[in-house]
Amino acid sequence: MDIVLGNHSDVVSAGELTYLIDEWRTDGRPCACGSPYSNCEFWQGLAEVVSVSEEMAEIVRKIEHRRATLSVLTDTIPPEAKEAYRRFQKGVFSHLKEAGGASIVLDSSKSAGDAAMRFYALSEIVGFDVHVLHLVRDGRATMASYVNKGSNWALEGHADPPTLPGVRAVGGWTLANLWTLGISKMYFRPDRYMRIRFEDLTTHPARTLKAIGAFIGINMNTLIARVRRGDHFDVNHNVGGNRIRHNRSIQLRHNSEADRQPWSNLDAHHSSFFAIFGQWLNSVLGYRW
Ligand SMILES: [Zn+2]
Repeated sequence: MDIVLGNHSDVVSAGELTYLIDEWRTDGRPCACGSPYSNCEFWQGLAEVVSVSEEMAEIVRKIEHRRATLSVLTDTIPPEAKEAYRRFQKGVFSHLKEAGGASIVLDSSKSAGDAAMRFYALSEIVGFDVHVLHLVRDGRATMASYVNKGSNWALEGHADPPTLPGVRAVGGWTLANLWTLGISKMYFRPDRYMRIRFEDLTTHPARTLKAIGAFIGINMNTLIARVRRGDHFDVNHNVGGNRIRHNRSIQLRHNSEADRQPWSNLDAHHSSFFAIFGQWLNSVLGYRW
């Protein structure tokens, strides 16, 4: 979704911005284009405007991590930290708008740990007009992907393969979705929250993109025409996370029959585990068993 929407002329997408400083400062974690951030044509120059320092990374984590929830919600973060955070984010977003020639920044930070409070903080502390696009996926598909393929970090060689992948997948999926639902319902206006099913994006892309366009106030006709033609979408200079960012371009495909039920090859243990611990939330998100 990040990559497709990032191909709209009004939108600049930048991946998981919460990890910008961490990635910038780690050798061997380049921008999606393959260059180190300081040499990348898109990101270079940012370090002259904002501080890409260890201290700034700590402030970001202190405000955005799930552990900060209480102090962020009760507004007990020290004023200096809030001011530094505000200056940093305004600098980053201005740079993105200018470099991308767009008026809307798409940030796909999605960790329910590190970035749990990010969307709230960007709205309440920085003062941005944040629209929350909550992309959900059938929990069984998430579980099957994790069990059959493994986590992104393990696949990229940054972490060992997880133990009990099924339990971790369902736990992470439940926490992330409940968290986003809860904070959005409590603190965002109804017209600032929209839920998208991943399966609708791939099966009915035109209808889904049109609804997203109405939500953020942009015309989607050009993008919809490109999806209909089966065009490739360029990957921008994305930060962090998903391994598909290192492809030069992607296509938004209609699901094949086999893709539609990726969980069909899960064993009986995993299926039963999901039925007991995951299906209740799957139903809330509109997925029938
Ligand atoms: Zn780049």
